Amino acid sequence: MTGRTKYVLDETELPARWYNLVADLPAPPPPPLHPATRQPVGPEDLAPLFPAGLIEQEVSGERYVDIPEEVLEVYRLWRPTPLYRAHRLERALGTPAHIYYKYEGVSPVGSHKPNTAVPQAYYNAREGVRKLTTETGAGQWGSALAFACATFGLECEVWQVRASYDQKPYRKIMMETFGATVHPSPSEETAAGRAVLAADPASPGSLGIAISEAVEKAAADPDTRYALGSVLNHVLLHQTVIGEEALKQCALAGETPDVLIGCTGGGSNFGGLAFPFLREKLAGRMSPEIRAVEPAACPTLTRGRYAYDFGDTAGLTPLLKMHTLGHDFVPDPIHAGGLRYHGMAPLISHVHELGLMDAVAIGQRECFAAGVAFARSEGIIPAPEPTHAVAECIREALRCKETGEEKVILTALCGHAHLDLPAYAAYLSGAMEDHELPEAALTEALAGVPRP
Ligand SMILES: *Cc1c(COP(=O)(O)O)cnc(C)c1O
Repeated sequence: MTGRTKYVLDETELPARWYNLVADLPAPPPPPLHPATRQPVGPEDLAPLFPAGLIEQEVSGERYVDIPEEVLEVYRLWRPTPLYRAHRLERALGTPAHIYYKYEGVSPVGSHKPNTAVPQAYYNAREGVRKLTTETGAGQWGSALAFACATFGLECEVWQVRASYDQKPYRKIMMETFGATVHPSPSEETAAGRAVLAADPASPGSLGIAISEAVEKAAADPDTRYALGSVLNHVLLHQTVIGEEALKQCALAGETPDVLIGCTGGGSNFGGLAFPFLREKLAGRMSPEIRAVEPAACPTLTRGRYAYDFGDTAGLTPLLKMHTLGHDFVPDPIHAGGLRYHGMAPLISHVHELGLMDAVAIGQRECFAAGVAFARSEGIIPAPEPTHAVAECIREALRCKETGEEKVILTALCGHAHLDLPAYAAYLSGAMEDHELPEAALTEALAGVPRP
């Protein structure tokens, strides 16, 4: 007989506070620098883009930040999210390992992104902002922000990476249903977009280009601010509700994870799951290995350089110390659109440099094979991004099968694929390619990283 499948928390157990890992690290992460002066940016440099409430969180050293009641009220629409034991996948693999997944696909848009979209919209609305601009790759972030803006009465304007805009018409319809305006990126709406189109009218776009467009639009209008769906400290802070709930649910299951695995695009779902566990590890209460998984086509942590670089293509953002492939890097149009970003969250990069986590890169076909195996045993079709985490869970579970170890593996299943099914069609038809990043392309992209 197998034990329980779902560990479900009552609404009253929704975390009341977000957790800030910075408070517990042995050294603080290097600060963002102003691109002209190379001095740390101050709050006044960020004010044209972000509201004061979020800037405060971005630079905070406080261990905990209370979640406002207005945000909790919206969180309760889908949180707490369930933790599942993947009994059926374990059996299919014949592994003695225990595999658990924290399922964020139950949110209104099908991913973890609303965990930060909702507080970001809240703090902007509270400070009188009228409109938010943003970029979206796979469409998950744009959908989440469109939903959150509808919740707090804000306008929302989204630049969607061209490749994804063409591949994913349903994401656009979802954003429009929530009331947002959606442009393909690069677009004629901004100087940044026009410059890219002039050089390459058929550009498939990239997150870096779309960020430049959204930032340019926000900076030009005093009633408009910009919202970023990953990478920044305040985004990772908001996502820690995932790990805080998972800690309680692991306790319910009577288990302590030996390995934590998450996919990393900018690092927010991974950090959201991992940071509360890392707090426990730093305090000596548990000792899980913590492992990020990225696509072989965009191997930021495993093959990038740890250096100050721009967050966007046009060089409009502050310089961030992070693992980067170079801000000009345009990854191959793999199906995991949410993982096609040239940089990594500075906080994740720092944690990696401190030796508190490791990273692996996996090719697209192995990931989709894992996604199919997961769907056929667990019934949930993972979004293309978390298939990377599932692939590494399966590798780990098969290693356990060799050694006989009963390791406890925990992952974030950060979204479902219901609006990404064409990616599965490409895999099932055999047309999918792996797109490993060639060494020459990497060298060329890294040449674009600014000199110190
Ligand atoms: C956006 C997204 C990602 C990548 O972003 P992170 O900040 O690395 O989490 C991964 N998975 C899904 C489902 C996403 O929507």
